[in-house]
Amino acid sequence: MNKMIMAAVAALCVCGCSQNNDDAIKMITEATFPPYEFLRGQEIVGIDVEICRAIAQKLGKKFQCETVDFDSVIPAVISGKADLAAAGITVTEDRKKNVDFSIPYVTTGIVVVYSKSNPYTGPAQLKGKRIGVQGGTTSETYVLEQLGQEPERSRSPAEAVAALKAGRVDFVIADIDPAKNCVKGENDLAISDFVTSEDYAIAIKKGRPDLLKIIDETIAEIKSDGRLAKWVAEFTAEADSLKNK
Ligand code: GLN
Repeated sequence: MNKMIMAAVAALCVCGCSQNNDDAIKMITEATFPPYEFLRGQEIVGIDVEICRAIAQKLGKKFQCETVDFDSVIPAVISGKADLAAAGITVTEDRKKNVDFSIPYVTTGIVVVYSKSNPYTGPAQLKGKRIGVQGGTTSETYVLEQLGQEPERSRSPAEAVAALKAGRVDFVIADIDPAKNCVKGENDLAISDFVTSEDYAIAIKKGRPDLLKIIDETIAEIKSDGRLAKWVAEFTAEADSLKNK
């Protein structure tokens, strides 16, 4: 896991794609979010990468991918540095003010990660506790808005869970899939049921209806032809096997 975290802070990684090319479709992501995006060595891989690669293919364009901190993902499409923001991004009313979202490709949500020596009993228990989250995420918003307190911010779900293991926070809130990956093989850790229901979608700069149409068509296709389900199974297995190394 440490290897994954260290590699993930590398500023720029290519995903087995083309060199810098103005004609390419550029994806921006945050590669500490298995199985949606994570590093296989230096290569960014995962469900979101395959979705965006399929969009680039449909457009007949080359494909590039870069990883930045989660806070910088949406700003990168607003500024035009990237075309597609895909990082397990939850559709929220706030974000809709700044970007356009595709149709959702998965419905999921956040969960509480806890130590079995301090079992989680329900939301009331979180009040006044030290809660670890990845900065800029809907987990952060949950702590700020639903619990009315400041969270302890980390750069990745794995870093937040490392703080839980070290006793620096009492609970972690994170999206279920990276949370499951983090607790894999950790006998003292467990996750709660869903705390929220959230949809993931691809975010793009406002005012690009032609691009949005192609993205929506691609998502509909990969859902109906089984590609999305196949990627979910494959990348979940790969991320879990990397976790156990
Ligand atoms: N789904 C969460 C959000 O959109 C977390 C995404 C992430 O950390 N990559 O805020």
